[in-house]
Amino acid sequence: MAAAAAMVLACAWPLSAQAQDVPSEGVTQPDPATRFRVFLQEFRSEAIEAGIPAELYDQATSGIALNPRVEQLNLSQPEFVRPVWDYLESAVTETRVSRGRDLIGVNAEMFARLQQTYGVPTEVVTAIWGMETNYGGNLGGFNLFEALATLAYEGPRAAYGRRQLIAALKIALTEGRDPATMSGSWAGAFGFTQFVPTTFLEQAVDGDGDGKRDLWGSQADALASTASYLSRSGWRSDLPWGEEVQLPPDFPYETADPDIRMAVSEWSAKGVRKLNGELLTETGAQSAIFLPAGARGPAFLLNENFYAILKYNFATSYALAVSVLSDRLRGGTGISGSWPRGETMLSVRQRKTLQEGLTTLGYDTGGADGVLGRRTRQAIREFQKARGIPADGYATASLLTRILNERFTLP
Ligand code: CA
Repeated sequence: MAAAAAMVLACAWPLSAQAQDVPSEGVTQPDPATRFRVFLQEFRSEAIEAGIPAELYDQATSGIALNPRVEQLNLSQPEFVRPVWDYLESAVTETRVSRGRDLIGVNAEMFARLQQTYGVPTEVVTAIWGMETNYGGNLGGFNLFEALATLAYEGPRAAYGRRQLIAALKIALTEGRDPATMSGSWAGAFGFTQFVPTTFLEQAVDGDGDGKRDLWGSQADALASTASYLSRSGWRSDLPWGEEVQLPPDFPYETADPDIRMAVSEWSAKGVRKLNGELLTETGAQSAIFLPAGARGPAFLLNENFYAILKYNFATSYALAVSVLSDRLRGGTGISGSWPRGETMLSVRQRKTLQEGLTTLGYDTGGADGVLGRRTRQAIREFQKARGIPADGYATASLLTRILNERFTLP
């Protein structure tokens, strides 16, 4: 989904108790349904202050209730992490490829216009459409106001929910839309390419020229908005997203990280080559080497456009899926390197154990939160480097075993 919600979903947010939820001594708490109605009543003045007519607020919120499914999804913190190769397989299916190619054929004129206007390739826009809603097959069945009010009421995304709820009301107001027709995902993303309300207000465009921005009913509006979003996120029409590459045996793995960018000529000097062995195309751009499954899996050269896709949804596996799907839509064959399928993924608990182990051994991970961020990757690289293992910063079960063995044999 576009931007805001994606950022929220990608981060593991700490759960914070809300001050107003702390029960006063000796006072009986009303049931959640009543408290939710009280919250909606209190939020009403905030909405009115933000310029929402009281009548519209009442219309949008009259039939809604605390949604238990949204509450559950809001609090769920998955313990197990899916391997990137599994994720890519479910994202880039033959069905999705052939349906996408058909849609490009049917909408050739519209796509030509979009590519002309925004400089973003048809296949990339189509890949996002396919990834976000399976080309409109799954638009999300939650009432947008119910989902956002449930998030706003309490829990880790309360601030996000309040902001988006106001924005959704503004959409109903400025677009003259009946709130009852505004549906979306549990996290408040909606339409063919899943914009969140604030992103809609800032970025949505009218793609079919009827004077309205309708991401639910007009594919042209949704796809133009997506192309426009990527263009404003820094998409360069003269560059591909990147490409799969081959690395030499003596490649300095500590330089392979989406956060480490350098000129293509520098990667060439380190021995990085195209898959067919040819020299990399000199683009003058800053690029990174990305190893989604570490040194034992395929390697990718990332251009700036990959980072524009990341602004749409802040997860490297998502951006890689969009990129690979777009290649397939253009007639490409997909990833050629093989994945280390025998490797089991570390659970969140195991990731924390790995972080604690590294810290004990003197490699600072900046805490043990189970998230393998920049600090942890750096700590792993230093650990690997000191032991002569390829310093890819990638956490595996065998690395965890090694760290634990060293930790327990500490003098
Ligand atoms: Ca329109």
